[in-house]
Amino acid sequence: MFTEIRGLNEECGVFGIWGHTESAQLSYYGLHALQHRGQEGAGIVVTDGNSLRPVKGEGLVNDVFNEEKLRAATGHAAIAHVRYPTAGGGGIENVQPLLFRSSTGSLAIAHNGNLVNANHLKQNLERSGSIFNSTSDTEVVIHLIKKSSHSPFRAKVKNALSLLKGAFALMILTKDMMIVARDRNGLRPLSLGKLGDAWVVASETCAFDLIGAEYVRDVEPGELLYITNNGLEVDRISDDIAPRAMCAMEYVYFARPDSNIDTVNVHMARKRMGRELAREVAGIEADVVTGVPDSSLSSAIGFAEESGIPYELGLIKNRYVGRTFIQPTQELRERGVKMKLSPVVQVVKGKRVIMVDDSIVRGTTSKRIVRMLKEAGAAEVHVMITSPPMTNPCFYGIDTSTSEQLIASSHSVEEIREAIEADTLTFLTPEGMVRATARPFDDENGGLCMACFTGNYPTEIFSDTVLPHEKEC
Ligand code: 5GP
Ligand code: SF4
Ligand code: MG
Repeated sequence: MFTEIRGLNEECGVFGIWGHTESAQLSYYGLHALQHRGQEGAGIVVTDGNSLRPVKGEGLVNDVFNEEKLRAATGHAAIAHVRYPTAGGGGIENVQPLLFRSSTGSLAIAHNGNLVNANHLKQNLERSGSIFNSTSDTEVVIHLIKKSSHSPFRAKVKNALSLLKGAFALMILTKDMMIVARDRNGLRPLSLGKLGDAWVVASETCAFDLIGAEYVRDVEPGELLYITNNGLEVDRISDDIAPRAMCAMEYVYFARPDSNIDTVNVHMARKRMGRELAREVAGIEADVVTGVPDSSLSSAIGFAEESGIPYELGLIKNRYVGRTFIQPTQELRERGVKMKLSPVVQVVKGKRVIMVDDSIVRGTTSKRIVRMLKEAGAAEVHVMITSPPMTNPCFYGIDTSTSEQLIASSHSVEEIREAIEADTLTFLTPEGMVRATARPFDDENGGLCMACFTGNYPTEIFSDTVLPHEKEC
């Protein structure tokens, strides 16, 4: 099941801090809060005003850093990254932040997202002599900056970023500046905060809570921030205005429930998704509602509240195995699910169970859980999914499946129900999802990207656009 990986900027987590003597330690805590966004590798690059110093490695945040390494990384600013697992393009050279040393000034970059024109840009750069060190798309950005004919440095960065298409929430660090940028659609989340006088930037606001920073605002789509010892300056990548399109799956699955995206709390949004679903299947008869831990507990609570059917802990997660999608093969994946979840027999035996889950990608996970509940004695299993059928691949950094792997691209809801052996199967409608997220914008769909459900991509897609990678879940 290994495919060749060329684009490697999947769902990841980024963190940055400017103006604090403990920048490396605080980045370490920030990455801890963002660990759910990537478990394959982690890195921090600090600046002390004279030079950039990296600390990075493969594995979990706790495996990569220790006190000694953090203490050695002295500086007043840092950018940091946690990396999502990949099917074959791993290796330390792809662990971010990527650091490029050069006589004209070193720089480091950390990126979350996927560039849809990376191949095109890379080919042009290679034709004009650039040599790439990693298989990461992120390197393209650095070469574009270095090759830009604009001047001074800020103009080079602006010019380079204006050529990127797709999804990016990124940070660039030089010895005396931190640059923060988000793509024009705002596909991936990025928030700005303050910790005393220090500026803090993170993929999710849960990182601010952990270090005691105060949320200031979300970085705007298309925005470009320069942070230096003189303060923060706000610019835009270009004058283009694009439709706002925050990834809907961030609310459904990826983000942590205690994070707020565009001021909407993820737990509350999930609860409302559960409520919407309960309204959509009004009148369903069942004895208990259970969520698949952890991502669907909030929505199961919402479903129970709305339907009046009691919420129960029907499934328990073993916290000491990682998310199942780190397992690379189908066989391991199957074993992984069993290692990860156990049914609470007393809760489900003889009961009509409503099982709430966030999404169906291939259908493997749901099938296993339905079977597990039935083996534990459930009389009926009604599967409620808090997102619409995923019929189209994502080009912006998550999911990463090709169409053929998405069960909903080739099967009707009834066929999926049959495949996962559920008694009934219901997906949340796109309208229900938009209502549930209740985002504070008037844009279409509340400014959500819904492309994997609707096929309506907010950016152009090129024939050689590389899918982030083979999904592992
Ligand atoms: P599948 O249907 O592919 O067997 O598994 C779907 C489940 O995998 C979802 O319920 C979700 O909890 C989990 N999952 C892991 N990684 C991802 C991802 O990148 N996107 C989505 N939508 N679900 C994922
Ligand atoms: Fe998110 Fe789907 Fe859009 Fe990808 S296509 S960014 S998963 S909503
Ligand atoms: Mg799940």
